[in-house]
Amino acid sequence: MGFKIQKTNIGLYLIKPDLYPDPRGFFSEVYKKSSFPGFPDFPQDNLSFSKRGVIRGLHYQVGPSAQGKLVRAVTGRVYDVAVDVREGSGTLGKWEAYELSPDGFSVYIPPGFAHGFQALEEGTAVLYKVTAEYDKNAERGIRYDDPDLGIPWPIKEAVVSDKDRGWPRLRDAELMRPRGEIGGRRKPMKIIVTGGLGFIGSNFIRYWLSSYPRDSVVNVDAMTYAADPDNLAGLKGDYAFVKADINDSEVMLRLAKDADAIVNFAAESHVDRSISDSFPFLHSNVMGVHSLLEVVRRTGVRFHQISTDEVYGSLPLEGSKKFDEGSPYNPRNPYSATKAAADFLVRAYHNTYRLPVTISNCSNNFGPYQHPEKLIPKTVVNALSGKKVPVYGDGKQVRDWIYVEDHCSAIDLILRKGEPGETYLVSAGNEKHNVDVVRQVLSLLGKGEEAMEFVPDRPGHDVRYALDASKLMAMGWKPRFSFDEALRLTVEHYVENYERYARKAGLMRFWR
Ligand code: NAD
Repeated sequence: MGFKIQKTNIGLYLIKPDLYPDPRGFFSEVYKKSSFPGFPDFPQDNLSFSKRGVIRGLHYQVGPSAQGKLVRAVTGRVYDVAVDVREGSGTLGKWEAYELSPDGFSVYIPPGFAHGFQALEEGTAVLYKVTAEYDKNAERGIRYDDPDLGIPWPIKEAVVSDKDRGWPRLRDAELMRPRGEIGGRRKPMKIIVTGGLGFIGSNFIRYWLSSYPRDSVVNVDAMTYAADPDNLAGLKGDYAFVKADINDSEVMLRLAKDADAIVNFAAESHVDRSISDSFPFLHSNVMGVHSLLEVVRRTGVRFHQISTDEVYGSLPLEGSKKFDEGSPYNPRNPYSATKAAADFLVRAYHNTYRLPVTISNCSNNFGPYQHPEKLIPKTVVNALSGKKVPVYGDGKQVRDWIYVEDHCSAIDLILRKGEPGETYLVSAGNEKHNVDVVRQVLSLLGKGEEAMEFVPDRPGHDVRYALDASKLMAMGWKPRFSFDEALRLTVEHYVENYERYARKAGLMRFWR
């Protein structure tokens, strides 16, 4: 049994299943996953039953919950219409209509088309499978009788709901930025990464361009002390760098106009620095995010905010309690207070302006290209320089560690499947005492406890962080790297590039 699939002029797919008639009627397989290679999954099926003349539509969903629809008449005939509402598409505003019937074909309407139909017979049942679940906030529509479209609905005495009569005309409607095509070959996207010369941002750019070589990345970074262009040395792909502060709305607006997404890593990120001078933290982490949200408000570009587990405050050292997406915020140092403020702004902008924004709060990252002021690179650099590795207090603080590449794959999934306005916690579940991480790094370097030195604790030092990432895991994410394997790779990177990191740490005088 098979299907004949034909692409139409505006990019719909007409699908004719094989039909097996016999004196009893007919049999037909109308959908089979293996016969539709490259089509997305369909997590929701809808069935509508309509009187003759009823028009439903024209509907579509914007943002990550944009829907592809596989539409089939189960009883009766329908006049099925799809209108191209993709911004910048060569066929924007063009529409096609097909008559569907139980023994005829189905139509697959990719994301980016408004869809509607009219029932041509009494008791018409239409079954449509959709590639994203219904999302009230993302739902949009255009008027079925928009004169600019001039759709000749066959039955003039149309029955239309008040809701469907209330949609704007196409010229006033919110257009769709295409996010995906079938066949796994979606249109190339332009992603703006902010703070991409820092640790996680640079890893993310490497990850993105190697995962999606047809995409382009624009990296906007103010080049603070934490930026290092060497983090992207040898990068391949369509990449551009713009030196700018995220507070520079003019630059950001210009770049965002034709971008598909902004992923914001730009921040002051070191807790110790926030304790000695918090002003730059307010500037980048709060004002900067506010400026970006204003750009999002004006362009409608998809926005993802990179945040931290530290916004939730500290857990008791003993016990297995973890933070989840509903946990109250309780930031306990200036750095986490600014990150919390940013998260609240993102949430508020979603609630107020319905912006296509998401947040991820991730646990402690480790991996290549981190600044040597942070625990793991500092341990390697100090140990190799013959300088003691400082451990705060008794070193019993617990951090939840994740390899940076696993963080990047989580962001990737959220960008593709995250729901606007939602928060996702990212954790690989590797809870470790700081002192044990230092010990393990030293042992990989062939060194022992004598390389450590316990120093007075940081004021307000949080005791334990731990996150429950089950919401993200339910969407299909899981970390690929074990802690031990990832730590070995990380230490190897810092050993191989020791000179560079020692220079950054101001430790070259210890070089031997
Ligand atoms: P980083 O300090 O290594 O890099 C930050 C980058 O942002 C730097 O290149 C810097 O020049 C740039 N930047 C700072 N202010 C800017 C501004 N106003 N405009 C433009 N660029 C600016 O930080 P990181 O460790 O890579 O962290 C990246 C993000 O991830 C931060 O938002 C941080 O809060 C978050 N985060 C980090 C961790 C972690 O373990 N490192 C964990 C969870 C969340």
